[in-house]
Amino acid sequence: MRPAPTTSSLRGLLGFIVLVSVVLVAATFWQDWQARNIALRNAEVAVSNLASSIDRQAEDAMHQADNVLIELSERVAEDGLAPAQQARLSRLMRRHVLAQEGLQGLFVYDAQGNWMATSFGERGDHPNNGDRNYFIYHRDHPGTQVHISPVVMSRTTGDAIIPVSRRLENPDGSFAGVVLATIPVSYFESFFNRLSLDDKGVIFLAMRDGTILVRRPAGTSSQTSTLIKGEIFSKYLPMSHQGTAMVTSVVDGVQRLYGYTDSEHFPLVVAAGLSRESILGDWRMDAYRDTLLVSGVIVALCLLGSLLYRQFGRAERAKEKLADAYQILESLAQSDSLTGLANRRRFDAALQVEFARAMRNRTSLAVALFDIDLFKQYNDTYGHVAGDDCLRQVAELIKANVRRPADVVARYGGEEFVVLLPDTDIAGALAVAEQVRFAVSEAALPHRASLLGRVTLSGGVHAIQRSEATTALGLLEAADGALYLAKQNGRNRICQEADRPSASVVKLPTRN
Ligand code: GH3
Ligand code: MG
Ligand code: MG
Repeated sequence: MRPAPTTSSLRGLLGFIVLVSVVLVAATFWQDWQARNIALRNAEVAVSNLASSIDRQAEDAMHQADNVLIELSERVAEDGLAPAQQARLSRLMRRHVLAQEGLQGLFVYDAQGNWMATSFGERGDHPNNGDRNYFIYHRDHPGTQVHISPVVMSRTTGDAIIPVSRRLENPDGSFAGVVLATIPVSYFESFFNRLSLDDKGVIFLAMRDGTILVRRPAGTSSQTSTLIKGEIFSKYLPMSHQGTAMVTSVVDGVQRLYGYTDSEHFPLVVAAGLSRESILGDWRMDAYRDTLLVSGVIVALCLLGSLLYRQFGRAERAKEKLADAYQILESLAQSDSLTGLANRRRFDAALQVEFARAMRNRTSLAVALFDIDLFKQYNDTYGHVAGDDCLRQVAELIKANVRRPADVVARYGGEEFVVLLPDTDIAGALAVAEQVRFAVSEAALPHRASLLGRVTLSGGVHAIQRSEATTALGLLEAADGALYLAKQNGRNRICQEADRPSASVVKLPTRN
């Protein structure tokens, strides 16, 4: 198989496809990355806003409750807790509870935890709440700070409630009891439920120590709540009072983006989390679609590329074949079909080139013309086919005795051959011609009609010397004249112009 075409245009095509693919992938990746960042940023804003509005609502509810507690504390301090005062206080508390949605009940306990007044009206049995955490806290912690306790079940209604309380003190600062407001968990739950959240979203209100007070969804295990709040409380809240954080739940494996806020006035923390899945859901669909689209385009580009590559390969191979054929044609046009030697056309071209070079370089140039002796008789004796064969053998003999690379051996026509000998003087040309004549004679190709009984040839040689004023044609004609002389002188010999009877040059001895 031929090697694949590797021309610059093919490399350009492949480079273009690779470049387009890379740019396409990079642009799509960049665009999707930007879209992803925008989706995350929008979600950060959304969870921050959620956390802020929950914080506002929680603070409002706590302020309302605390304001009532402050008012009640002052009443108790001023008016005491005599039975008449208890009835008045209870009525006032009832009015507050009815007026405020975020209040489930109001209570005043004495230093032993006995109910002294309540928004639920007179109770003859005077239950005791001395065992409640908030009561024990206030009893043991002097100070008039508001206190929020973990969720308990109301002993009056059975509802889940958040106790908000203050310590009552005697004028000497000793413990006098507790005033308590209870906020129903359902109050926050109904607010949480009105907020829009995805299926896996989470909202919670917690105490600063991490204890969950209200959570949406409500039904999940407390362990989940603890773990989720854990990371926010341990890692993020110490860094800033509000912010956003991506937290993965080790319980359900859901990754959520949380917005969290540490309440300004109360020891409370609120957080709202949206699942990463819902935040990036739309973006992911778009990214999949883009990836699919880009993959399709790249596949199409590759197909187109391979198609062009094959087309290109075919064209390239056709071009090579054409070039080969042209080369063959050209060499055919310049060579003799019978002997394989250069033909007359090629010889003429070479003569022109070498003649010009000789003139330019002032070097010598020689030509030797050969003509097979009595070849007509050869044909008559052995037939034309044998004659052709004889021509081939003589051609081989001439070629074998002309060895310099620059020499050109050609069939001049019929049974005539010519040898062009660049940079050769007459002596050299005579030596070459004599060697050829001798080789043909020595080959002893049978020729019955010849007196010698073998095929021989005659030759005429001519050389031009440096600045001799002549033409290429003149050079050939001189060699032809010398050949004629050789025929006249009895054949099977080599002559030069100097061999004319008029010329007074010593004749070269011939060998048989
Ligand atoms: P001389 O010694 O004077 O050259 O005698 P000659 O017979 O060779 O001379 P002449 O030029 O009269 O004859 C040349 C003959 O060469 C004529 C032709 O039959 C033969 N000849 C020329 N070309 C070819 C060829 O291609 N094939 C064959 N078989 N014979 C050819
Ligand atoms: Mg002839
Ligand atoms: Mg002849």
